[in-house]
Amino acid sequence: MATIDTKEPNAELVTKTQHYGDDPLAVRDSDHYRNEYVKTFVEKWDELIDWDARAESEGQFFIDILKARGKKKILDVATGTGFHSVQLMKAGFDVTSVDGSAAMLAKAFENAKDRRIILRTCQADWRFLNRDLHGKFDAIICLGNSFTHLHDEHDRRRALAEFYAALKHDGVLIIDQRNYDAILDNGYSSKHKYYYCGDKVTAEPAHMDEGLARFRYAFPDGSEYTLNMFPLRKNYTRRLLSEAGFQYVRTFGDFQETYQEDDPDFFIHVAEKT
Ligand code: SAM
Repeated sequence: MATIDTKEPNAELVTKTQHYGDDPLAVRDSDHYRNEYVKTFVEKWDELIDWDARAESEGQFFIDILKARGKKKILDVATGTGFHSVQLMKAGFDVTSVDGSAAMLAKAFENAKDRRIILRTCQADWRFLNRDLHGKFDAIICLGNSFTHLHDEHDRRRALAEFYAALKHDGVLIIDQRNYDAILDNGYSSKHKYYYCGDKVTAEPAHMDEGLARFRYAFPDGSEYTLNMFPLRKNYTRRLLSEAGFQYVRTFGDFQETYQEDDPDFFIHVAEKT
């Protein structure tokens, strides 16, 4: 069993360059995320998301949802560089921060420490969550378009079953995703208002088909990175959540309850066990 750690996570096993082999479009593998979040990309991630702008655009959305339901003990399963873990700890929640990438967790720990916060971290893959982390939580958050990293339906169902099991009987899962329906059906456009708020960085699809969303991230210093993701359609994710056992699934579009289907850049699903 992996222990929960409050010491700096070890990122030394992390590689420096991304490798997709001869045919990058053929890389559709749920294990590949660890090779994609190489140290140099992780170091740049916060330029892409811009914490201050993101905090302003999200406002109290997640905090309000959690507080309205009386949730206190939160598991952030896609910690990344730590944005939501830190926001929630600042707001007084008891947060445990999980990620499958050692590089991401190390960066999150450093980011929190810079803000005088000590993160409780645990490196674990969602598909083996309850093997590696014990305890039941009031709420799980899986944010920043993270679930899209799972390429096989079997892995998605398995991860959702692990999330469900790690929640208390009345727990809530908040999971978000890009509006892939709009990109697949109408082509890509973005308001760049939410999530990836850094204004000097571009994040755009390099390839889209029903089985692959390959995004390219270009930074002002000329460096470029890519992520190969699975383009989740909104109703498909909602169905997976229901089939995992969640009784109520409510989907917001760019933090609004009502929206035109094509309009939002991101969907946020709030899935309740009871
Ligand atoms: N939530 C952060 C944010 O909003 O900035 C990070 C988002 S980043 C797009 C996705 C994160 O999910 C990465 O840190 C990655 O390592 C993690 N991840 C992807 N697949 C995973 C898996 N199967 N198990 C655990 N973590 C995973």
